[in-house]
Amino acid sequence: MWKGLINKYKNYLSVKKDTNIVTLNEGNTPLIKADWLNKEYGFELYLKFEGANPSGSFKDRGMTLAVTKALEENSKAIICASTGNTSASAAAYGARSGLKTLVVVPKAKIAKGKLSQALIYGAQIIPIKGNFDKALEIVRKLTDKYALTLVNSLNPFRIEGQKTAAFEVADQLENKELDILALPVGNAGNITAYWRGFKEYYNKNITNYLPKMFGFQAARSAAMVKGRTIEDPETIATAIRIGNPVNRDKAQKAMEESNGLFDSVTDKEIKEAHQILASKEGVFIEPASAAPVAGLIKLCKENKYSLTNKKIVAVLTGNGLKDQEFVLDNYSIPNSLEGKFKSVEEYINI
Ligand SMILES: *Cc1c(COP(=O)(O)O)cnc(C)c1O
Repeated sequence: MWKGLINKYKNYLSVKKDTNIVTLNEGNTPLIKADWLNKEYGFELYLKFEGANPSGSFKDRGMTLAVTKALEENSKAIICASTGNTSASAAAYGARSGLKTLVVVPKAKIAKGKLSQALIYGAQIIPIKGNFDKALEIVRKLTDKYALTLVNSLNPFRIEGQKTAAFEVADQLENKELDILALPVGNAGNITAYWRGFKEYYNKNITNYLPKMFGFQAARSAAMVKGRTIEDPETIATAIRIGNPVNRDKAQKAMEESNGLFDSVTDKEIKEAHQILASKEGVFIEPASAAPVAGLIKLCKENKYSLTNKKIVAVLTGNGLKDQEFVLDNYSIPNSLEGKFKSVEEYINI
């Protein structure tokens, strides 16, 4: 039986034998071959569907370890700033562990699915009028002043837990060599975590390759691409609407060491990739998760970087059900017919 990623990868994580593990059996998410995209673009792409985690995003990988450690250290409460998924995940693991959970979120820009999660898991929600960067600034000051455990990706256990995704990708690909790992970049913790995971497997001779790390950002929130803080980040992909990535130095190093790249995609490109993934591959994700696929498509179209026959994994970070407004605002549901056989028969026109 799968018992969560700490149990599976405990030899790579710093947990004691008698530690009480806070888990929802996260991890072990599907790696799906992207048949339609592969035919269209000539690469060999696999989709790592992190939306299949218990709270619907990859954040659970770091949260299981961060909350396990908070409990081990006798913390009384956990706190985070969040564009949505960190708060949903913290609230879930907070509920499971019995720790009080506080989440500071930008009120106007959080997807409703994520907010409902924090609500029903029982976290104390603190909505603010600023953006994520402002929320994190406030939370950092609070954790400096009070005995609260910060569970943003500044917490080293978050990155530690998240690196298991790289182990899983390598395990799932068996002995196939991976050329590129593509993922969306917001606060830049996940790219840091993947790179660490791939390096650990390589250094322990479990794999004999290191993939290039390709980080994609939304065009108006592209701090890593531009190499500077963005004051007023904007994008429909709210999970990566971040202007001041706290892990920027580590992420920059991951990109450089792996010989990878940072690039940006417009909201239009994100929307197109989002639709392709759902309607051609059957994989429904939230908008931010479409950024890496939008980026790969962009690279193919621009012809600047050859991806032909390259083995690529795109990390699809969050579940589509979290942001249903995005779909309902952009696509229309047909008008209702009479509830009669004849009306439906005529309408479908077989
Ligand atoms: C948190 C998140 C990201 C960004 O990850 P970082 O580690 O902050 O770069 C991307 N997509 C989704 C769905 C997320 O929840």
